[in-house]
Amino acid sequence: MTTTEPGPHGPAVPNPTEHNQWYPFQDRPLPSEIDGILANPAVVPTSATDPLPASAKFVVVGAGIHGMSTAFHLAKALTESGRGTGADVVLIDKQGPGAGATGLACGCVRNMYMTGPLHAILRASVEVWESDPINFGFQQVGYISVGEKNQVDEYHQIHQSQNDSGFRSDLYVGAEAESFLKGIWPDFKMGSAHVALHELRSGYAGTHMVMWGLDQKCRQWGVTRVYGVEVNGYDTDATGSVTGVQTSEGSIACEQVVVGAGAWTPHHWEWLGGADTTDLTYADGTVVENSPMWTFWRLLEGEVVLPPGVDFRTADQKDAPVLHVELMDTPVYGADGQMIHDHVYTYLRYAAERVGVPGIQGGTIPIKLTTDEDQEPYGHLNDRYQADDWFAEYYTRTLEMLFERFEGIGPWFKQRRNGGIGAFTADNVPIFDHVQDNAYVIADSNHGFKMIGVGKLVADELVHGVTPDELKPFTAARFANGGTFGSTNSNSPWV
Ligand SMILES: Cc1cc2nc3c(=O)[nH]c(=O)nc-3n(C[C@H](O)[C@H](O)[C@H](O)COP(=O)(O)OP(=O)(O)OC[C@H]3O[C@@H](n4cnc5c(N)ncnc54)[C@H](O)[C@@H]3O)c2cc1C
Repeated sequence: MTTTEPGPHGPAVPNPTEHNQWYPFQDRPLPSEIDGILANPAVVPTSATDPLPASAKFVVVGAGIHGMSTAFHLAKALTESGRGTGADVVLIDKQGPGAGATGLACGCVRNMYMTGPLHAILRASVEVWESDPINFGFQQVGYISVGEKNQVDEYHQIHQSQNDSGFRSDLYVGAEAESFLKGIWPDFKMGSAHVALHELRSGYAGTHMVMWGLDQKCRQWGVTRVYGVEVNGYDTDATGSVTGVQTSEGSIACEQVVVGAGAWTPHHWEWLGGADTTDLTYADGTVVENSPMWTFWRLLEGEVVLPPGVDFRTADQKDAPVLHVELMDTPVYGADGQMIHDHVYTYLRYAAERVGVPGIQGGTIPIKLTTDEDQEPYGHLNDRYQADDWFAEYYTRTLEMLFERFEGIGPWFKQRRNGGIGAFTADNVPIFDHVQDNAYVIADSNHGFKMIGVGKLVADELVHGVTPDELKPFTAARFANGGTFGSTNSNSPWV
């Protein structure tokens, strides 16, 4: 075992994998530079990629979870309906699969949202994860969310809404919650925990595996995969309809564009004529004027090596469910007795494929940034967007507070980069909508590695001309027509 050097992000810690601190590069050299800035590369090797054609029926921009799912499902739906083939679809990314948030996400697939209409989006997404769990790297271990007494009403609403949407979950309150949680993890420390929601169809997925799987499916269905080409703008006619996509390799004429650009979405939105502010009208008639359409948040995540003899398995030796705990009234104290935060907010999943040895990955509430942040360099390459110095102690303290098995785990925090930013919408809930009559934007408000089904729903709409019910609540028109989603009883912006 080696030990990493003390650095700006924390003390020396065990590093049994002997990887360097640049995930996913491990012991590879740093990636190439574009205009003097490190360029976050694709997370999977790509082969048989294509040059940019002169025209296409559909151009999909961005090879993250949404762009790749859309391109694959477009090719499939066109072929199966007899309305076209995969040759009608061109997928463009300035790097390649997983070069944005998708390649570095924690990989949690859950349905625990206060926003009811998201439950159907997640039901549709889990159906896609279940359609090929091997090639998507989907581990259907379930997901458990735990809260305190002050959240019981919200848990009842979420439980009802999930089940109404066709997504089964079970709810346990008080003594039932304790016996449920201790049945799975006998060493779980209840503390002030009082309510537990169990989603049986949720779990986690390896981020590289799903990128590889979707890239292969795009290939198999005949999508033209153009990687290493950057989109610089869009050609539009007098009505605003898109006639072509401008790239670093010239223009490509097209009939339809779908944008899945993650943290870069605000640029594409602006290029396509979307407004940068909006008035927000709520169901009770309240209007908040001139809200920014996009605000960036910086995610706080990390990895912990499991020491010899410690596992994250259940009492019956299964891979444990993903666990998410928010105890709003329970402070977290550091080793020096000082309070780090006045609440517990923590999530974890087994992540050997990520850590390199048996380990877990998780995080806490992201940090709000401004409405205008630099996306480059993206992810782990960007010094400004890494976890704060307090994070390692906070995160491992929450693990110690929740499990006897994790007592003393602090030194096993794997001190390497896990940062990334996301663009959140004006109400922190996704926008899935046309910004022009033939330009569709999938803006997941940083909720969406799990939302692999959105690309299928969008493809269905574009091929068959009918908007699926699941997508209807997520138009940008909600901001004007009283459908703005509300805030919640949580410290988190993931509503
Ligand atoms: C640290 C972190 C952890 C997360 N954990 C989870 C989680 O556990 N579960 C979950 O559900 N969600 C999670 N998320 C959120 C989730 O990762 C994102 O919401 C989702 O991956 C966004 O997918 P996307 O396809 O929209 O964008 P991205 O994955 O960011 O892909 C966008 C792609 O567009 C390309 N691109 C951008 N601009 C251009 C251009 N001009 N020309 C050509 N190509 C361009 C980029 O190169 C990139 O490959 C996490 C996010 C972060 C940052």
